[in-house]
Amino acid sequence: MGSLSRLKTLKRTSDWRTLRRNVQFNSFRADRSFVASVTFGIPSDIDLRIQPASGPLDSGGTHFRLDYSAKSGDLERVNQPAWRQMLGRGSQGFNPNLHRYLSSHASSTQVPRERVECVIVGAGVVGLAIARELSLRGREVWVIEGATDIGTGISSRNSEVIHAGLYYPKGSLKAKLCVEGKDALYAYCQEYGIPFKKTGKLVVATQSQQIPMLENILNAGKSNGAHDLRLLESNDVRNMEPELECVKALWSPSSGIVDSHSFMISLQADAEEHGASFAYNTSMLRGAVTKRNIEIHVGSTEALTPSSGKGVDAVLCANYVVNATGLYAQSFARNLDGLPVDSIPASHFARGCYFSLPGVKAPFSHLIYPIPEDGGLGCHVTLDLGGQIRFGPDVQWLPELTNSVSLFTQFDYSVDPKRADRFYSEIRKYYPSLPDGSLQPSYSGIRPKISGPGQPSADFLIQGEKDHGVRGLVNLYGIESPGLTSCLAIAKTVHAMLMDQEC
Ligand SMILES: Cc1cc2nc3c(=O)[nH]c(=O)nc-3n(C[C@H](O)[C@H](O)[C@H](O)COP(=O)(O)OP(=O)(O)OC[C@H]3O[C@@H](n4cnc5c(N)ncnc54)[C@H](O)[C@@H]3O)c2cc1C
Repeated sequence: MGSLSRLKTLKRTSDWRTLRRNVQFNSFRADRSFVASVTFGIPSDIDLRIQPASGPLDSGGTHFRLDYSAKSGDLERVNQPAWRQMLGRGSQGFNPNLHRYLSSHASSTQVPRERVECVIVGAGVVGLAIARELSLRGREVWVIEGATDIGTGISSRNSEVIHAGLYYPKGSLKAKLCVEGKDALYAYCQEYGIPFKKTGKLVVATQSQQIPMLENILNAGKSNGAHDLRLLESNDVRNMEPELECVKALWSPSSGIVDSHSFMISLQADAEEHGASFAYNTSMLRGAVTKRNIEIHVGSTEALTPSSGKGVDAVLCANYVVNATGLYAQSFARNLDGLPVDSIPASHFARGCYFSLPGVKAPFSHLIYPIPEDGGLGCHVTLDLGGQIRFGPDVQWLPELTNSVSLFTQFDYSVDPKRADRFYSEIRKYYPSLPDGSLQPSYSGIRPKISGPGQPSADFLIQGEKDHGVRGLVNLYGIESPGLTSCLAIAKTVHAMLMDQEC
């Protein structure tokens, strides 16, 4: 008892990260056994080392038989979640139930099957928020992430803006979840010490023909619950932002920015504190809906490339499964046998590139947005918490994806410097003194869309049993902007959908 509480004093995520990173696979031997060691000295007196058992590994090469000894402490003092955390990141990829496997399948070649209450696939900001919500409510949660860390997908390639809910049709999920999510996110940041700033935002009409569109945004925002909006004349705007050129602007005082990475680390830490387990470099390869549960076949991410020769490492038999795979949500759904294919929406991808303004004193201290364009919110000004500004994202529709190539190599995130030409002309509509040659390519992100070019922008699509008929499954499609702002509200919605199904 005393020992478990000792482990639970490892509250900070950085401690857990140190612990995971200390899994070392030192060398491999001719008989395919290996030397591994795990050392963590944080801040307890446990110093644990894992040694390989004598004897060869099984033919898969990813299942290990280990002997272990604990110096100044004993293994019972290491609680099970700690084992999972510790073994969650190794150069071989992850067997999500290695510790159980070790005890029950050591000499078997069959793929281990594990009963798990909730499996969340995807550790972007949405999956993390859901993992936290479910684990806070006492559920057993496993998060399966194909990349080697949290938040490396859409969640690390966005504007980090806390939106106020201005643009979305009344009654839409985007409107509801953005407004609820914004309040929840500000409260979370305050409670957990996440860096954020309520900068406020100006949406600008640069020509008088755009004023009716500004008024439409004002009305939509108010009906969505953003009651603090007001229209400003150009003189008022000039007092706030002397470099900004416009005929009228909409002022949203409650828009802001957040350090999204600190936020994600905190969500993960909170989920882990409440018992959630994370598996990295582990992908959902395929799945099946059975009479009793949903089977998720997982293996190392390399296995997504058919020529890798890698296969399924474990089958997770889950009561609840959440598909939070962002850009890959439709691909996940197509690989789940038993999910009606007609429930899967079309998928489109729209890349957005950013340009930065190095070497120029930031000309603005508020977020500046033009009138939205097809596919995006227009080439806007975002600030980071250090006061640096960047412009973007633009909208570049991408071709349809094939399903057969490794998911993690399909997207090109490079920023073509030639795209700057269009940026100069768009930005100079509201910032005429943008110096020539000042823009530098920065980064890009890809929007997971369920509506295509020229179509009205689609709402978030969060499907539960009522929509697709599969008990215990929630699919999240089209979680583009304002997904970051909305994630805590999305998490509550997903929890409610899953638990309704339990009744
Ligand atoms: C250019 C751009 C700007 C944006 N700006 C804002 C903004 O300012 N404010 C705002 O509120 N929102 C913004 N958004 C939206 C926001 O970033 C997203 O809604 C949010 O990050 C989506 O998070 P996610 O967890 O759904 O997806 P992701 O972060 O992509 O996470 C999905 C995870 O699933 C993993 N995965 C995929 N397939 C598998 C598999 N088979 N097995 C295991 N793991 C898998 C991936 O590796 C990934 O880590 C923006 C989006 C873009 C593209």
